[in-house]
This record gives sequence, structure tokens and C-alpha cells, in this order.
Amino acid sequence: MSDIQADRIARLIAPLRVPARAKLCPGQYDPGYTGGLHRHRDGTDLLERGVALLTDYQSRLAAQNIHGVLVVLQALDAAGKDGTIRHVMSGVNPQGVHVHSFKVPSPEELDHDFLWRYAQRLPGRGEIAIFNRSHYEEVLVVRVHPENLDRQRLPAESRRGDLWRRRFRAINAWERHLAGNGFRIVKLFLNVSKEEQRKRLLERIDRPDKNWKFSAADVAERQHWDAYQDAYADMLSHTSTPWAPWYVIPADHKWFARIAAAAVIADTLIDIDPRYPAVDRDGRQELLRFKSALDAESPGARHPRRAR
Ligand code: ATP
Ligand code: MG
Repeated sequence: MSDIQADRIARLIAPLRVPARAKLCPGQYDPGYTGGLHRHRDGTDLLERGVALLTDYQSRLAAQNIHGVLVVLQALDAAGKDGTIRHVMSGVNPQGVHVHSFKVPSPEELDHDFLWRYAQRLPGRGEIAIFNRSHYEEVLVVRVHPENLDRQRLPAESRRGDLWRRRFRAINAWERHLAGNGFRIVKLFLNVSKEEQRKRLLERIDRPDKNWKFSAADVAERQHWDAYQDAYADMLSHTSTPWAPWYVIPADHKWFARIAAAAVIADTLIDIDPRYPAVDRDGRQELLRFKSALDAESPGARHPRRAR
């Protein structure tokens, strides 16, 4: 990895990072931003290089087996979460990456504290886990639709006062605990505009090959657009921390969203800088002894040709 490449990645993602303790307003980030890049000139090449870089770093992360990486993906419907995961992770070894999609909680999940089901799916050391929706739904959909909170059957004292502030603090503390134990957290909010979402939902109706993706629930959820924007702005303002910052990924241009998402994940891996474990002098001697033993077992060595 050249310093120039690492520097270019850092510069690309800097404007997307939400500063700690920022006070964001809804709609503050431009979903159409492309960082001065052009689809035809930069699009394919940059993504391919980003994917190659992730492939290399993921294999080193697995070999080193010290750090794990949790990628949190949050977005409104049709923002492109699935496509981003597919493209960005296209080169990595599937054994080292796990994707978990969090849906409406099951009765068993509702029987526990609000972070329980997410804790079950954290990455191990050497692994990357991707949360397709995440613990952040607990301060987003649950806030926009409070009937979800009723289903959680909290005791009265846990609902008193500013429940959302308490959840933000609990999430920040949990993420700090994970970071302090070697787990890096990459948080990506795919920020799509209302008009682009409308076009994508329409496309799911108009194109037969996309009909399967259409869900009436997505159109219903769109009616709560402003409430979601408020909930996202509050959540981003309270949970972008030095140990687990949020990045707002402009998502109106899919090609740029994929490059930006790959760049943020790559930047984290570059920072971890995982190395293949080095073999010391004794280890090298040991390897050479095994090599001699294996060489001695070759068919040529076991049955030397008879001299004529
Ligand atoms: P896609 O539509 O691309 O398959 P998706 O993430 O939208 O992906 P769906 O099955 O359509 O998946 O929706 C999952 C639903 O689960 C979303 O409406 C989301 O708001 C809801 N959900 C996720 N977490 C929670 C939660 N903690 N409490 C209540 N609802 C949740
Ligand atoms: Mg959906």
C-alpha cells in the first residue's frame, strides 16, 4: 500500500465523516455528492482498486487474528444496502466475512435487552461482520414507530425521561467496550434523497426483473420520511464518536456510494495494518526440517531409478 493511495482514500472520506458531538440538522448532507469524481472516468477503476485492496487486507486480518471489524450499514429503503455489500465485498474470502440482516425482532429476541441480538452476531478476531441494519434500528424504526417499544415490554422506570439519550449512551459505551477489545466499528449511513427513492421504487414496479424487490411496506414507510430524517439526524449527532465514527455515504449515485463505502472500510483496515505473522529463526529451521522430510517422500526420492 503506497502512502499516496492511503492519503487519497483519507482525503476522499474526510468530508463524509460526522464529527463527534456535531449538531446535525436533517438533510444537512447532500445525497448527490460525488467528491469531484466522474462515473465514466473514475467509477470502475477506483472501485476495482478498492475491492483488490480489501481482498488483500482481509486475508492479512484473518492471518493475524487479533482484530475484528464490524461494518454497520444503515439506510432507508431502496438506498442500495444490498448492492453495496455485493460490490464492495465481491473479492473477499467468504469464510472471513459474515453478513447479518436484522429484521423485525422475534419473540425470543424481544425477551432480552435491546442489544442482545446484535451481540450474538459480532465478528470474531480475524473476521469482518456486516450488519445489514443494526442496533441503530433501536433508535430509528423503534423511535418512529413507538409500538415497537411496547413490544419490548420494558419496566415503567426504563421508559421514563429521555429514553433515546439513554440508548445513545448505552450504544456508545458498548461500542467503546468493543473497540477497547480489538474490534473496529465502521458505521455507514447510505443517504438517499426522497426523489431518488421514489424513482427506485417506481423502477421496481416498471421493470419485471425488479418486481420481486417491490414491497408495499416500503411505500408506507416513505410516508414517515420526515420522522426518519429527524431520527437519523439525532442519532448521528449523538453516536459519532472518536472510537466509532459515522460516515454519511451519499447514495443517489450508486457507483459513488460503492467507492465511498469501500474507501471507508479500506481506511480502517489500513489503520489496523494487519500483518502476516512473521516466522522467527527457530520457526524457519522447523519449516526447513519439514521440507526435507516432505522432499524425502517424493516418488523420485523413495524409488530412485535403478542405474541401467
Ligand atoms: P430488503 O428490503 O432489501 O430485503 P430490508 O432490510 O428492508 O431489506 P425487510 O425484510 O424489507 O429488509 O425489512 C426489515 C424490517 O425490519 C424493516 O422494516 C425494519 O425497519 C425492521 N426492523 C429492523 N430492526 C428492527 C427492530 N429492532 N425493531 C423493529 N423493526 C425492525
Ligand atoms: Mg425492505
